[in-house]
Amino acid sequence: SDGSRAIAWQEGFGRLGSAFLTHLQPTPLPNAQWVARSPEVASLAGLPDGFLYTDAALQAFTGNTVLPGSQPYASVYSGHQFGVWAGQLGDGRAIHLGETAAGWELQLKGAGRTPYSRGGDGRAVLRSSIREFLCSEAMHALGIPTTRALCLTASDGPVYREEAETAAVVTRAAPSFVRFGHFEHFAARDMHHELRQLADYVIDRYYPACRNGWQSGSASTGNAYAALLYEVGQRTAQMVAHWQAVGFCHGVMNTDNMSILGLTIDYGPFQFLDAFDPSHICNHSDHQGRYAFNKQPQVAYWNLFCLGQALLPLIEDEDITVQALEAYRPTFSHAFRRLMCHKLGLPSAADSHEAAVTPVIGQLLDILAASRVDHTIFWRRLSLSAQDNDYERARELFLDTAAFDRWLLTYQELSAQTGKAPDAHAMLSTNPAFVLRNHVGELAIRAAQAGDFSMVQSLQQVLSQPFVDHPAHSAWADFPPDWASSIAISCSS
Ligand code: AMP
Ligand code: MG
Ligand code: MG
Repeated sequence: SDGSRAIAWQEGFGRLGSAFLTHLQPTPLPNAQWVARSPEVASLAGLPDGFLYTDAALQAFTGNTVLPGSQPYASVYSGHQFGVWAGQLGDGRAIHLGETAAGWELQLKGAGRTPYSRGGDGRAVLRSSIREFLCSEAMHALGIPTTRALCLTASDGPVYREEAETAAVVTRAAPSFVRFGHFEHFAARDMHHELRQLADYVIDRYYPACRNGWQSGSASTGNAYAALLYEVGQRTAQMVAHWQAVGFCHGVMNTDNMSILGLTIDYGPFQFLDAFDPSHICNHSDHQGRYAFNKQPQVAYWNLFCLGQALLPLIEDEDITVQALEAYRPTFSHAFRRLMCHKLGLPSAADSHEAAVTPVIGQLLDILAASRVDHTIFWRRLSLSAQDNDYERARELFLDTAAFDRWLLTYQELSAQTGKAPDAHAMLSTNPAFVLRNHVGELAIRAAQAGDFSMVQSLQQVLSQPFVDHPAHSAWADFPPDWASSIAISCSS
């Protein structure tokens, strides 16, 4: 193949060696076809111009060939699943191609078995791969930290789930795919040398400032690993605050699905809320509701505790560990309140404002829940209402319109205190018209399963600009049809 088309790689996680990963080859799939691509990710990752449009790319990103200079591997991690220690897991169906010279790791999801596949087939079906591809790119466009998706290819190779389906491969991209579970793995086995190696790698590459230690109030430490724990907690708090503000339910927040960079990772049974139900459970296999929408902030904290436990042998100080962890809570509350202020078109800076804004947010969430108001439509209509200074189209979403009127009064009073009307322009650029609703994704999936990938592509286009109107696709911003509630999505598929 022609040299100008070669991807430049650099040494990354792969250099950590055999305690961390196993080199292997992806398993080929027949009749690879492009479903969708993200040229923006290709450019970020430093792929040569036009490479994503070549047959060489199609074959490589389906796992049929190995790119020059790539030394594919799968990594080992462990984790807590649904609150229970699950022992060794690992990249059971993810194969890393390596890290590009631009600092992006590329990873094939669904390219065959690895030593960590346990009972699984190492494959992913077209349906779940479309969801992962679209949601990764949609979350990025919403301004939410996430792993990205470079491309999605399909094959007619069969994959057996409840019934026969076909295989697909998503090429994911992120600066790092290290999870909390990578740390838990070495801690659980008392492999403290490897634990330190991993932590040093993550700090040197992604958190160099942690070498200066961490200081907050009376807590102060020169320990870089305590600083790492603190920083990961801060990033996780920001990520989860975004989820809560936009109405995103992850669905399977196991510690092996928590990114050390605070990125949303592992798109499985996720769902953007339709009707606002704080205790909504989107994962069909989550019988206890552990990962219900309103549990997410607390679950993230629990997961951070698992990370803290794993790092304790390096931090060597329980008090500092607890203090680093505790910092998650106020940061989450702060970040959530700030995002809600943006959604309401209110200034978020002044601390004096905080006490007044908290009940306005709380009251709104209560009435949204009581009337089961569509979350995305409400916020968009509130923004348009602020623009027109006429709240009727928001009001008519409520069964209990008197409750809405009472809330509107307190909101307008608060806004008046700031001396300005709600900033409609800011609201329209923070409250999306389009999110990846389950039923819209489902329509794209059905078309793709019948061989037509055009809806996946137009949906990708629309979701890449979620804050503007797309008149030709306004149906995708509309209320879900009755059949939407019958879509059942569980863990790995
Ligand atoms: P998840 O629930 O997607 O986070 O997956 C949990 C674990 O199961 C991870 O170690 C995955 O790599 C593994 N896994 C999920 N699906 C498959 C599959 N089809 N084949 C092999 N491993 C899988
Ligand atoms: Mg996972
Ligand atoms: Mg998964």
